[in-house]
Amino acid sequence: GFKCGIVGLPNVGKSTLFNALTKTAAAQAANYPFCTIEPNTGEVAVPDPRLKKIAQIASSKEVVPTRISFVDIAGLVRGASKGEGLGNQFLANIREVDAIVHVLRCFEDDDITHVEGRVDPVADAETVETELMLSDLESLERRTTQMRKRATGKDKEAQTLLPMMDEALKLLQDGKPVRLLLDGIAAEDLKILRSLNLLTSKPVLYVCNVAEGDAAEGNEHSAKVQEMAAAQGAKTVVISAAIEAEVAQLADEEAAEYLDAMGLEEPGLDRLIRAGYELLDLITFFTAGPKEARAWTVAKGSKAPQAAGVIHTDFERGFIRAQTIAYDDYVTLGGETAARDAGKARDEGKEYVVADGDVMLFKFNT
Ligand code: GDP
Repeated sequence: GFKCGIVGLPNVGKSTLFNALTKTAAAQAANYPFCTIEPNTGEVAVPDPRLKKIAQIASSKEVVPTRISFVDIAGLVRGASKGEGLGNQFLANIREVDAIVHVLRCFEDDDITHVEGRVDPVADAETVETELMLSDLESLERRTTQMRKRATGKDKEAQTLLPMMDEALKLLQDGKPVRLLLDGIAAEDLKILRSLNLLTSKPVLYVCNVAEGDAAEGNEHSAKVQEMAAAQGAKTVVISAAIEAEVAQLADEEAAEYLDAMGLEEPGLDRLIRAGYELLDLITFFTAGPKEARAWTVAKGSKAPQAAGVIHTDFERGFIRAQTIAYDDYVTLGGETAARDAGKARDEGKEYVVADGDVMLFKFNT
């Protein structure tokens, strides 16, 4: 599955947020037997109003959302790249996630110690980013030296990797994260970059953890983070971990009332989960029938057989074609039969690139 790692300095609200996420997930667990919750990993349903619509139209008995994972990665302090705190473990854990959710303390509270003795989320973000860059720099310098030897020895792999490694190294030496290379990168290069598995090449999203009263509007701290993020082309989510912790314990109706009182339209976690999903560059396709309506996840750019493979490996191996209805057609026309009658059910083959919202039915050999 796809994983977002929750990182940040100590006492910024990571665990509070993670626990709210897993509580929500635990509440869903009865309905979703495949939900596994490990101590520091939680699988959560991705909220998607389109799924409910499809289920209504198809009169589906079950509604099964798609899911992503969040991992609580504790232990980052200044000096982590030199092994301070749980430094090495921390960095190893980040290597295993696909994207980074960076939590920043944007709430004032004299009772909660700040490791740096002041609330300054932009400086905190720099502290964390610096540790990640130092770690990348060290690992890349070491690997580049080896790789250069191999490249002169006409090693094909080394010759492919080295130009990308050099580009990444140049950025890091300038004090910049490797994710700057992601902008407009070609698919082939992206593969190479991902294979280097650098911490600062992972896409990042900033979470501003604000006090309860600031959840609706944000505050001066979150405004500064938003400015910083915008300059990096990164997204921000303003959330109050304290509110989310509260909401996660309430029944649906009470939760709605509480959110309303706080001036919020929906749980911040829903926004966070959706933002995480976007960050991972994922899209959703649907299957719909009387038994169940279900949302599935594929990486953007995936072709029809890969989508079939998400459902079952046999579907990918024996893929023949996929009846495909765009979400808007499915809803406007009122379902599969009507879409077919209107000529809006396309037969797509092996080269079809799946579009977000496609309602698909796979034909395959067994
Ligand atoms: P972590 O070290 O980043 O995982 O931080 P925790 O989630 O353990 O939170 C550290 C402390 O800050 C705990 O006592 C939380 O209750 C408190 N805390 C977290 N979020 C908020 C918040 O939005 N407002 C206030 N006042 N306290 C918070």
